Amino acid sequence: MSDTEFYSTTVPRADTDFTVPKRYSELKMIGRGAQGIVCSALDTQYGVKVAIKKFMKPFQTQIHAKRAFREIKLMQLLRHRNIISLLNLFTPSESIDGFTDMYVVMDLMDANLCRVVNTQLDHERVSYLLYQVLCAIRYMHSAGIIHRDLKPSNIVVKEDCSLKILDFGLARNVGNFMMTPYVVTRYYRAPEVILGMPYDEKVDVWASGCIFAELIKGEVFFPGSDHIDQWHQITSVLGTPDDTFIDRLMDTVKTYIRSKPRVHRPTWEELVPDHLFPSGGPNDAQRTREGRDLMSRMLEIDPLKRLTIDQCLQHPYVRCWYRQEEASVNCPETYNHGIDEVELNPEQWKELIFSEVTEFQQKFPTGHTPV
Ligand code: AMP
Repeated sequence: MSDTEFYSTTVPRADTDFTVPKRYSELKMIGRGAQGIVCSALDTQYGVKVAIKKFMKPFQTQIHAKRAFREIKLMQLLRHRNIISLLNLFTPSESIDGFTDMYVVMDLMDANLCRVVNTQLDHERVSYLLYQVLCAIRYMHSAGIIHRDLKPSNIVVKEDCSLKILDFGLARNVGNFMMTPYVVTRYYRAPEVILGMPYDEKVDVWASGCIFAELIKGEVFFPGSDHIDQWHQITSVLGTPDDTFIDRLMDTVKTYIRSKPRVHRPTWEELVPDHLFPSGGPNDAQRTREGRDLMSRMLEIDPLKRLTIDQCLQHPYVRCWYRQEEASVNCPETYNHGIDEVELNPEQWKELIFSEVTEFQQKFPTGHTPV
């Protein structure tokens, strides 16, 4: 593959060895996802800390392979400061015969957003975190990607409040009830998806609104226990939607919703009272009003009434952070969704993924320079 020298190291708590080029030292486990184990490491070549994710046998099933392949393709396509970028891609295997594991090197962040929920955040931090989520999502949309599975565990942040989205959501042909091992999170799922309506980019505005509300409230805003309960949670908080929305539903769903007692819509001041918002700063009362206004417009049940991502970025609560190069840049290429639709057997996936890794190594033998 390349003349890099590899070594194997046992990482405490990881239950697996990492076999990496010698330039990476001090490996420590930091996370575990559906696809693999993530370690922090020191890249001695540049003197920077990085994250290394090990994908074990990424080709073993159709689901694992597609997801791994999509992830490495998208990490290379999407280049935005609020989206995790690929610094290096390698395998210790020299030939396809011995190929089992793939390693992805990324920027290292401090923690995922779950760790931030329930910490004392001021308006400056909350609005900046939200702004960065919106910038990342807008950029993904510009590449033709609707995320559809945005959640706090897939958003990572640093102490300095910089934020990056870690994953690229669901492939277009993946239904809501995907098979194991990937559990599609329910709490952030938009009403139009729950009710089986056609949907678009606005589903990501809903999810971002849920995450915003969670940062303010300190707990999940719509904690549904199953698919149906998710809808009940939403209406028990926001009230039954108007007839203009219900009239657009499929007949069976319409009948079901009309059979339920109408729930009164409380005011947003009642739903998210002042004491939940940051306070004590000179402009906090006004920032609270702006924040609540934006939240209410992102969490409109009817997607036709919900703000677009560009409208969110222009809202007074986040507009103070607006920078052209973050909030209105488009990805130069759109994603080829055809990749998500190919059906290959494990041996073919193995070849495809191995050749992707080999190609990367040929093009960038020492990876990309971290910024
Ligand atoms: P994943 O396998 O991508 O779902 O990642 C699992 C967990 O590992 C995440 O929820 C994060 O807590 C952590 N993690 C993954 N990548 C990084 C990274 N680049 N920087 C910091 N933490 C990360």
